[in-house]
Amino acid sequence: MEKKIFVLDASAIIGSHNFHDSDNFTINEVISEIKDFKSKLFLQSALEERRIKLDEPDEEDLRKVESITKSSGDILRLSEVDRKVIALALKFRRKGLSPVVLTDDYTMQNTLKIIKIPFKSILTPGIEEILNWIKICKGCKKKYPSDYKFDECEICGSRIIKRKIKKNNSL
Ligand SMILES: [Zn+2]
Repeated sequence: MEKKIFVLDASAIIGSHNFHDSDNFTINEVISEIKDFKSKLFLQSALEERRIKLDEPDEEDLRKVESITKSSGDILRLSEVDRKVIALALKFRRKGLSPVVLTDDYTMQNTLKIIKIPFKSILTPGIEEILNWIKICKGCKKKYPSDYKFDECEICGSRIIKRKIKKNNSL
């Protein structure tokens, strides 16, 4: 399986304090967007333990994001930090890596769709409660949304299976 690199925006860091030892990256500017105390503490230790690493996008990737979001119209809805996060993912892809952006920001997700970089929301979509289905990794038991499109676990690479859950069973 191809090794995945995760690129985190602020919503990903605030929404999940549960990062594994895989390659998680963010940029300096995202750190200054984290205001709540708990997330700050979490982030500090994650940075110290190198569970989250810092990197910067290159100029050519920033220019590419700018031109794409100008033609899609999303440039007005994206902050400079958002664009840098996307540009960092582009840089990783340019270097032959396989980035996944973790973000709950709809405009970022839209731009990522256009440039064909996979993304993942942190917050669980509400539809799962109605469907009563989840996907779960056979190996490490990580839970995925029922519409998760990959067959392999992003953490351990094991197969992901569909499992029916009881109504109101919390994830
Ligand atoms: Zn797994």
